[in-house]
Amino acid sequence: MLGSWRSDLIERFIRDVADFPKEGIVFKDITPLLSSPEGLKAAIEGIAAFVDPSDYDLVCGIESRGFIFGTALAHHLGKGFIPVRKPGKLPWKTESESYDLEYGTDTVEIHLDACDSGGRVLMVDDLLATGGTMEAANKLVRKIGGEPVASVFVIELGFLEGRARLDVPVHALHVV
Ligand code: AMP
Repeated sequence: MLGSWRSDLIERFIRDVADFPKEGIVFKDITPLLSSPEGLKAAIEGIAAFVDPSDYDLVCGIESRGFIFGTALAHHLGKGFIPVRKPGKLPWKTESESYDLEYGTDTVEIHLDACDSGGRVLMVDDLLATGGTMEAANKLVRKIGGEPVASVFVIELGFLEGRARLDVPVHALHVV
């Protein structure tokens, strides 16, 4: 999608914050995109256009910025939304999946009954970096009997090659 009008528009509304949350990281701040009616509309309509809505039943967003785009997308298309959350946040019975970080591990959780067996799920997050978070989320959906049909992002850090870890189609509106 590089060079498309939508990619250019998204880029305009993303603020690079150096050394956040720690030294050496350039954080992609999406708050200017969220506060722009034009930017938010382009982001939601853009990720909606990647996959035929008849190919999935539910939208799954990853805490926390995946909730923003995922819920708006679900509402836009008349789908339901399911959250993948950080540990200890979901009140009902959960399935969990851990994944490696640069130092240590992280875990994500989903409700056991979040989707029906065979339910087709579109996976959403704001940004694809190493792919560990989305890989774990895809595994979680499979663990509860669902089928991730694609993973969509607003931003992709292409140089980290995170999409190589994902075994579903991957789409991003703006690739850095
Ligand atoms: P990863 O598991 O490495 O693909 O990291 C993806 C998750 O971490 C997403 O939920 C992002 O919101 C967040 N993330 C990773 N790197 C950045 C970054 N440079 N700027 C903003 N968010 C990031």
